[in-house]
Amino acid sequence: MSNYELVVGLEIHARIATKSKMFCSCNNEFFGKPPNCHVCPICTGFPGMLPVLNEEALIKGIKAALALNCEIPAKSKFDRKNYFYPDLPKAFQISQYDEPVSKNGYVDIDVDGEKKRIGITRLHLEEDAGKLTHTASGTLCDFNRCGTPLMEVVSEPDIRSAKEASLYAQELQKILRYVGAAECDMEKGGMRFDANVSIRKQGETKLGTRAEVKNLNSFRSLEKAIEYEFKRQIEVLESGGKVIQETRGFDDVKQITISQRTKEEANDYRYFPEPDLPPIYTEKDFVEKLRLELPELPSLRKIRFLKEYGISENDARILTDDPFLANFYEKVVKISGDPKRSCSYITTNLIGLMKAEDETNLDFRNLKISVENLADLVSRISKGEITNNIGKQVFEIMYQEGKNAEQVIKEQGFADSDNEADLEIWCKEVISQNPGPLAQYKSGKESIIGFFVGQVMQKSKGKANPSKVKEKLLKLLN
Ligand code: ADP
Ligand code: MG
Ligand code: ZN
Repeated sequence: MSNYELVVGLEIHARIATKSKMFCSCNNEFFGKPPNCHVCPICTGFPGMLPVLNEEALIKGIKAALALNCEIPAKSKFDRKNYFYPDLPKAFQISQYDEPVSKNGYVDIDVDGEKKRIGITRLHLEEDAGKLTHTASGTLCDFNRCGTPLMEVVSEPDIRSAKEASLYAQELQKILRYVGAAECDMEKGGMRFDANVSIRKQGETKLGTRAEVKNLNSFRSLEKAIEYEFKRQIEVLESGGKVIQETRGFDDVKQITISQRTKEEANDYRYFPEPDLPPIYTEKDFVEKLRLELPELPSLRKIRFLKEYGISENDARILTDDPFLANFYEKVVKISGDPKRSCSYITTNLIGLMKAEDETNLDFRNLKISVENLADLVSRISKGEITNNIGKQVFEIMYQEGKNAEQVIKEQGFADSDNEADLEIWCKEVISQNPGPLAQYKSGKESIIGFFVGQVMQKSKGKANPSKVKEKLLKLLN
């Protein structure tokens, strides 16, 4: 096994986040809508209809390409990719063949703490096809997806493991979300992967023959399909056979790949330049203007968080995985002035509560707790107004009910922890109930104070502020 090397190149499709479709004014937000209600003569390919390029799709495509370190050639064009299939009423897809809108980029991923660069061959624009549903009584066509804008990101065959493939795909998802170019929502079919997989003997420089596993729609099936292909191809070679170039599908239930068609039966797409769309000329100034509009990208933001806020690598990664959460955190820090505690309240307390409710879907956009309220809670703890222990309880109620810290502290009686009279009584009780430790303290063992503090904290059921307790005890003891 170990004398074979795995080689993978990915083709990733992501739906571009635009209001309308790629070449017509139909609404691009079709998820969950009844079939065939977002269609018009253009996207269903009526004869004589003329496509017009969606400028927003072009701009978002270029921005994504810039974020992926691609070059933007001065000229690009669209081509027709011809094929007959019931999901494509036009019988051709408008795509980009030999002059894509961008090429020669890269993405850096972090593989077990080591940086690895994955080359990007090209990012091009194209339209999607419709969706078929196969039922017992026949196949149903929904053309809502016809003509929706896609970007396709093609990687170099630089990937060497299933894990690397998944890390690369996740990094790409993050970058596209940061740029606002695509939502990359897997459940809504907003991102899908084709994995080109081959193997070769260790040390061999020539690429082996590849199989292409089409239409993977989760990071998990991407990894599983690659792992399966690696084993399958080794078995083929070891048993004296040859890997054939073919398209395969992935069976999510059985977790295996299945041959769909071989090279001999592959489509001949008869590409030719799209006659109804003019070439795209991208001027340098225009591209540079878009480059300036790019936000700070996730990998750099993570490094800045490490340096600026002194938080752990893992926390920095969690916070910067989602641009919304990263912004939320930075606003809390700005008000509270306590980066570490703000971080732990988000990465531990907040995410802990959210995961307890729904492990799979962390929706930070609909939180009941506001930036201001969380920052206020953090400040109160940092100033020693309430203990961290109480802070956690207050936070839980704030999270559930959307109240502010002051309200919760009052309602729950947490403010009593500062009650001078109670504190004095507890301290006196603890001192009189523990003559042994008291004698030790008197004879110079000052560290025993920790024992007294612990006892008072117990009496207060964790509500007292330990530093105030210590202060009070020292006063009484000396
Ligand atoms: P096509 O358009 O026919 O799918 P391309 O040559 O454009 O073919 O390649 C598509 C993808 O396949 C790219 O991501 C590329 O890196 C990858 N690829 C090409 N050859 C191999 C190979 N021998 N092993 C693994 N991946 C490969
Ligand atoms: Mg391909
Ligand atoms: Zn339309």
